[in-house]
Amino acid sequence: LIRAALGLVLLTGLASAQTFDGSFESGNLGSVTQIGPDAFDLTMRPDTLAANRQWFHFSIADAGGRTLTLSVLDFDISAPWTSGMTPCVSSNPNDENAWARVAPNQVSYSGNDLTFSWTFADDLPVWFAYSFAYDHTRARALIASVETSPFATRRVIGTTLLGRELELLEITEGVATPKPGVWIQARQHPAECGGSWTSEGLLEWLVGPSLEARALRENMLVHVVPMMNPDGVVLGNYRRNSLGLDLNREWDASTPVTSPTVWAALQELAAIEAGSGLAAFIDVHTHSSFLKNWVYGVSGSPALNQKEQGWAQELETLFSDFSFSMSSFTNGATTVAKNSIHSLYPDTISYTHEQTYHTITYGPNAGAPITIARYKAMGVAIGESLVSYLGLCATPAVYGVAKTNSLGLMPALHSNGTPGASANDLRVHVTSAVPGKLGVFYWGVAPKSAPFYGGTMLVAPPRVRFPPVTLGPAGEAEVAVPIDPAMVGTRRYYQFWYRDGAHPGGTGVGISDGLEVLFCP
Ligand SMILES: [Zn+2]
Repeated sequence: LIRAALGLVLLTGLASAQTFDGSFESGNLGSVTQIGPDAFDLTMRPDTLAANRQWFHFSIADAGGRTLTLSVLDFDISAPWTSGMTPCVSSNPNDENAWARVAPNQVSYSGNDLTFSWTFADDLPVWFAYSFAYDHTRARALIASVETSPFATRRVIGTTLLGRELELLEITEGVATPKPGVWIQARQHPAECGGSWTSEGLLEWLVGPSLEARALRENMLVHVVPMMNPDGVVLGNYRRNSLGLDLNREWDASTPVTSPTVWAALQELAAIEAGSGLAAFIDVHTHSSFLKNWVYGVSGSPALNQKEQGWAQELETLFSDFSFSMSSFTNGATTVAKNSIHSLYPDTISYTHEQTYHTITYGPNAGAPITIARYKAMGVAIGESLVSYLGLCATPAVYGVAKTNSLGLMPALHSNGTPGASANDLRVHVTSAVPGKLGVFYWGVAPKSAPFYGGTMLVAPPRVRFPPVTLGPAGEAEVAVPIDPAMVGTRRYYQFWYRDGAHPGGTGVGISDGLEVLFCP
């Protein structure tokens, strides 16, 4: 039985029990021809109204106990495949932990044909794909999950040709001053699932508890469009939308009736620029030819070049999977997103961010097949590198729980000033301890959580103590924290301990909550 794309059901006419299925969202299976008892020739359906034929994604069921040999014909055998890439395989394509790769010794190439074998343990379906598949339903679920964060707002900024929502997440924290915009998008090209895993890693980090994420939220208005081409993804295309257009060749010619998602993105980007400015534009892809993770950037004024290359250098410093030296910084046709944005907004740093489908040739992970975890780690690295490169500061974060004292109060830490070396005005402050008593602020470079005299010790040893202080009439005290430039990028964890002889617990000890500080320029 064959269920090809678009739900078409065909019988092979041969007495074989196995079921081929490519009729699901993002599936691509064009034809199946049985050429032997356990051997099949497969073709991929070309992109809608276009000739691209590279993405495959199908399942086989009812083949328990058999080893099938599958040949994908007329397939573009590009560099990742000839250097040892193998198909992705999963028992559940919706579970990121269920994806693996076909063993290299089960895969061979001849001309434009890819042949691989799989032994089926039972009759349950097994899915095969060009890369770790990531469909529109998953993107929508991710967006719905991120939207529950108090820092995230979902907006529908457009509609695809087939009526699907183009979803944007705006992420920020606090309101203070007008914030420059950052724009990160993925999946203009439907096959490039790595970009979706990267945007998932970025988004989960961006709404998470780290001070780096808070720094980005507090200082920037981050816009993420996880899936720029939902129609193409659902259709199982390799590169095109439902009119056969390559969206990354439409940025100087988009219209609401040909490439409406690009058109909508350009309207949003114009609004950001007209507001408080577009600082960075990052268009995340996966590349079918090269064994590296890098950017295609732009070039312009000396000041822009310094900014443009500086961020890529910072990303390389933070994440060895990324290569600055293998990146290129040249301008090209404004059909391409990064060139279009550079042309429209010459002060914006603008990139096509590219990742491998297979492996990289440098660094600690050289030769190792890329994993979903490393695609996601790239997303975190993109966020963290923006923070360190832009020198962003985060308001210190309270953590842990204070011990209720003899006055029924919970002493609380917070900060005054900023954690920046240039301002150098940070003070750690406690309130609601016991007036008139002696206490001590202390810090360490790691947090912990352990019982301590009826409260919780929240700073791991070794701990550094400040001189003792006497608490004021509101149970308050404060200590100045000098910040020298060598501390930038490091973090410390603060807590306050004091005498509380009237506490019914009998320990005579009171202790505050914790305060995590990330030092910045
Ligand atoms: Zn691409």
